[in-house]
Amino acid sequence: MEVFALAQKVLSGDRRAVARAISMVEDGSEDLPTLSEALYPKTGRAHTIGLTGAPGVGKSSLAAQLVSAARARDRTVAVLAIDPTSPFTGGALLGDRLRMQTHATDPGVFIRSMATRGHLGGMALAAPEALRILDASGKDLVIVETVGVGQAEVEVATATDTTLVVVQPGWGDAVQASKAGILEIADVFVVNKADREGADDAVRDLRNMLRMGPKGEWEPPIVRTSTLTGDGIDELWEAVEKHRDFGERSGELARRRRSRTLEEVQSMVAFRLGRRAAALLRGERDGGEGLADDLAARRIDPYRAAEILLSEVMAPDGAATSPAGETDA
Ligand code: GDP
Repeated sequence: MEVFALAQKVLSGDRRAVARAISMVEDGSEDLPTLSEALYPKTGRAHTIGLTGAPGVGKSSLAAQLVSAARARDRTVAVLAIDPTSPFTGGALLGDRLRMQTHATDPGVFIRSMATRGHLGGMALAAPEALRILDASGKDLVIVETVGVGQAEVEVATATDTTLVVVQPGWGDAVQASKAGILEIADVFVVNKADREGADDAVRDLRNMLRMGPKGEWEPPIVRTSTLTGDGIDELWEAVEKHRDFGERSGELARRRRSRTLEEVQSMVAFRLGRRAAALLRGERDGGEGLADDLAARRIDPYRAAEILLSEVMAPDGAATSPAGETDA
């Protein structure tokens, strides 16, 4: 009942309620399913944008500029800064907050950093939940910013409607991006720090690399920006809007959202089953090491062990499948 009241407050845009709901995601609260049930029908309205790129390329600075651009156009916006690798809010995210200070008192802006404390599914499962909370709270735009280009970060950045990949001038930055596997995920490329030398080279490198890749219906534009001078920010905003329009016209946005949700549910199931199976395998079911010992002693083979585990995991609830202390999140 209390969770339901919280959900209503989130839907009305209450900032403290939104903050609390996101903390629940961080903690992997057992009330999340109830919260999700209440909010989910009201989601899908916000345009979500992911910002990814190597540390230091200017993602936080760009996020702050995008917030200004959104506000100048009377759009409300939320920013979620994520560090999937750190269990605590670290220094990098503190810096983000400082950069965002001009927006701190604007009621049309909500800024929050997030780490996974108790959410056992990790950031890849936690981030979409947090994005939906911000969406449900009525923000027009939701920007999610990650600290680096690891697998988890890429997953988070691509779980959005429009993914921005940021590089900076400098020898081989585009090549590094390519190696990190983030060229493929870009809907829009940003060459930030265009006030520095080498921006043209970075644009050229990106163009060359894009030429080698597969061609889709949408050709990712390359936008030069400088958060120092503000150059290119309007162009970036337009590129983002254009991608959104393309998504709506072509049906690509709906397809992308649909497949994203399916993937999320699939990961949720895989994650839970995996955990149960691991617990069973370790013998937490009966306090022994039955199956593990049988495997080690070669009394049964891995296929047979997997089959046994599957049948136990699939057994109706309560039938020796739920080791003590397990809470799904
Ligand atoms: P992030 O780690 O990708 O979020 O990058 P930050 O936004 O924290 O920026 C890293 C550093 O680059 C900071 O010192 C910024 O002041 C600087 N920076 C960001 N954007 C620009 C830009 O357009 N031009 C220049 N010269 N420096 C920038």
